[in-house]
Amino acid sequence: VSASIADARRHSQRAHNFSAGPAALPLEVLERVRADLTDYQGRGLSVMEMSHRSAEFIAIAEQAEADLRTLLSIPDDYAVLFLQGGASLMFSMLPMNLSTAEQSLAYALTGHWSVKAVEEAGRLRDVHLVEDNRAAKHADMRDPAGWEVPSDAAYLHLTPNETIAGIAYEDRPATALPIVADLSSVILSQPLDVSRYGVIYAGAQKNIGPAGLTVLIVRRDLMRAVDGLPKQLSLKAHADAGSMLNTPPTFAWYMAGQVFRWLLEQGGLAEMGRRNTAKAAALYAAIDASSLYSAPVAARWRSRTNVPFTLADPALDERFLAEAGAAGLVNLAGHRSVGGMRASIYNAVEQASVDALISFMHAFEARCA
Ligand code: PMP
Repeated sequence: VSASIADARRHSQRAHNFSAGPAALPLEVLERVRADLTDYQGRGLSVMEMSHRSAEFIAIAEQAEADLRTLLSIPDDYAVLFLQGGASLMFSMLPMNLSTAEQSLAYALTGHWSVKAVEEAGRLRDVHLVEDNRAAKHADMRDPAGWEVPSDAAYLHLTPNETIAGIAYEDRPATALPIVADLSSVILSQPLDVSRYGVIYAGAQKNIGPAGLTVLIVRRDLMRAVDGLPKQLSLKAHADAGSMLNTPPTFAWYMAGQVFRWLLEQGGLAEMGRRNTAKAAALYAAIDASSLYSAPVAARWRSRTNVPFTLADPALDERFLAEAGAAGLVNLAGHRSVGGMRASIYNAVEQASVDALISFMHAFEARCA
């Protein structure tokens, strides 16, 4: 009994954190990391203080990769890379590594992050847009099955979950091109068929671990030596060096490994998919049933990880956020470019936090009526 009281108290000190990223991490992971912080498994030093080439760290790094491979059933002909520079550096590195200057690239522009990806690719190559939903303010889009993908582009780039607008899709257009996907805000939220992609990449700071780490899953035959490319910008050079071309973000890599282990203990990605579907369904149902709140994204493209919603009267936004904060519900403000609210409900955000948000939203609506 006393253990469960202690447990409840610990949980109660934790905010219900709906941050879009850096986002909530599982409490169990944070506590394991704290237990290891000053003395990693009797070595007398922290993981932060170890050489990345030490046997201890190599074991941590290899275990993290092995667990990620298990979680996603990553085929052997794919390399896993643990890099720095964020998803944003990949907006430039992917065109540099996967295409020649003469080739064009195909991109689906569906939200803020694909706009950034298109901008950066456009500095280097001709970019053909297979979709552009700017006129719909990224709240609706055409069915991917109808997108026309040019056959001579080097690859097709997708952002299947737009973190800011909260628009998401699982369909893929018909194409023989390798698909390059920015899965920053959706990776590990449900099972994924890696073999459908040429490259998957994600900034870690949502569903993987702390910021400072970028995870890539790359079909090996797509990586090649590119003439004149600085080594630090070469995916092949990073892959050949086992992501240790220079000092990798060791602590973030270790924490990602702890998150992968936690995901396996939870039952893997099928279980996370069930939980995430239930969380999103409950939250959208509450929004749809209310006359104060509404969800701007067309129903069929609603993201299950990032749930934007607006209040009928934007003058209430500030009060909503202040009272939510007082109730322990934090990081609910929509992105500064869109306003309104956004609840990001990644793996580490439990159903109990979503339930607390829904209860608060009901009570707030009643108070405002
Ligand atoms: N792509 C997506 C879908 C994102 O959500 C983000 C960050 N929120 C980025 C790219 C940029 O990632 P980073 O800050 O790691 O460069």
